[in-house]
Amino acid sequence: MHELSLAQSLLDQLIDLAKEHHAVRINRVSVTLGPFSGVVRDSFEFGFNALKQSLEIARGAELELETPDPVYLCLDCGKVSVIPFSLPSDRLELAMTSHYPKKCPWCCLNRLSPKGGTELILNQVEME
Ligand SMILES: [Zn+2]
Repeated sequence: MHELSLAQSLLDQLIDLAKEHHAVRINRVSVTLGPFSGVVRDSFEFGFNALKQSLEIARGAELELETPDPVYLCLDCGKVSVIPFSLPSDRLELAMTSHYPKKCPWCCLNRLSPKGGTELILNQVEME
């Protein structure tokens, strides 16, 4: 599972950070998941919470996930729009694989191209 290995590498990164700062406990982690990162939020969260159990230092770490709305560039009028996914979260994978899922709100054509949003960013870590 893709999400599981991403959760594992996030935990690896956190443990390195904790060692670097001589911390004994990680309390809170804030991560941004880009809408086109291909990461399924629920699976990632599940993977993180399962994997952290075997790590003394991360066991109590609370994961906060930010999932910004997707941004599209219209290939016809050139305007950039934020268009939230209107599908339920278990269908998000489907939405992400479709390159032209919406209509441009400016010109009403549907040649929309995803803009950015492929990132998985570690924003903030609270440790002691
Ligand atoms: Zn347009």
